[in-house]
Amino acid sequence: MVVIMKRDASQEEIEAVIANLSAFGFNIHRSSGVNQTVLGAIGVKPGFDHRIIRGLKGVADVKRVTEAYKLASRAGRDASTIVDVGGLQIGGRSITVMVGPCSVESEEQIKATTAHVASHGASLFRGNILKPRTSFYEFYGVEEGRLELIRPAADDGDLKVAIEITDVTRLDMMSEYADILQVGARNMQNFELLRALGTSSKPVLLERGLSATVEEWLMSAEYIMRCGNTQIILCERGIRTFESATRYTLDLSAVSVVKAKSHLPVFVDPCRSTGMRNNIIPLARAAVAVGADGIMVDVHHDPANASGAGLSALNFDQFAELIIQVRDVAEAVGRSLSVGGGTNGLH
Ligand code: PEP
Ligand code: MN
Repeated sequence: MVVIMKRDASQEEIEAVIANLSAFGFNIHRSSGVNQTVLGAIGVKPGFDHRIIRGLKGVADVKRVTEAYKLASRAGRDASTIVDVGGLQIGGRSITVMVGPCSVESEEQIKATTAHVASHGASLFRGNILKPRTSFYEFYGVEEGRLELIRPAADDGDLKVAIEITDVTRLDMMSEYADILQVGARNMQNFELLRALGTSSKPVLLERGLSATVEEWLMSAEYIMRCGNTQIILCERGIRTFESATRYTLDLSAVSVVKAKSHLPVFVDPCRSTGMRNNIIPLARAAVAVGADGIMVDVHHDPANASGAGLSALNFDQFAELIIQVRDVAEAVGRSLSVGGGTNGLH
């Protein structure tokens, strides 16, 4: 941390700041020019709030030189994290396609969907039950009897399963069925949930909040990591901007920013961000081109009659097309599609 003193700061003020920093255990390096003094405070002090120093007399500015997130930061780490989901490697050279309907509706739907996506190269099935919604009146999902439908169908297609966890009380129950626990955008700062996930042995897919900065997103990842779980996949799902032509604005620049700041793998959800089917394939291609490690897409056997988010779901044929296009872009940028499902439907 660097403390910049005001040009007219008195010796007493400078010494008071030094005493304050020393009391916190920092090593201080003082550098005084003709007009101004700058103090370098070296050390990592968990729980220290730099605003305390900012409020002292004679202080002009305080700048952090290290990130507020330590474990999620790339600093000091050469290798990127590869999340291992029972043998499925997320990150590294591979591109993972995570796919499923907006919500689990029926056994027929889940069987047909898992069979189709597995035969076309998906490796991860998204089987969501409950949907955190901004509006009380939107489809919230049906819990009764739905979780049990996912596992056998996914296992038949040799697919790993991700399920969105809506609150801490469902952690044990959902962990029985899921290989990955997904934290939705609206829960990114549900700190009790993040702490609980830190004690889980399941990898976590952490969506970016609707209005969260990259730093806030990484600080949420830090919560989970600090509590013991370092297997985290980040997911950019669009942020709120002034633009109303799309549901949210897909912040693809955040992908390359986060890849530079953190060692964690990053996915992109092109469905939730734009909310429109015809944008999904182009944005999935762009996501892979910009460096995403995976994409999360909605697919439905009959989007026009889906219980939720039908407008932003691909039908089966469109999903097959997406896989071909994403594979081509992956190869063009020196990566390869991680092919799951036990079969190879790539034509
Ligand atoms: C989802 O991921 O299924 C979803 C509904 O996303 P969001 O809440 O981020 O819009
Ligand atoms: Mn989401």
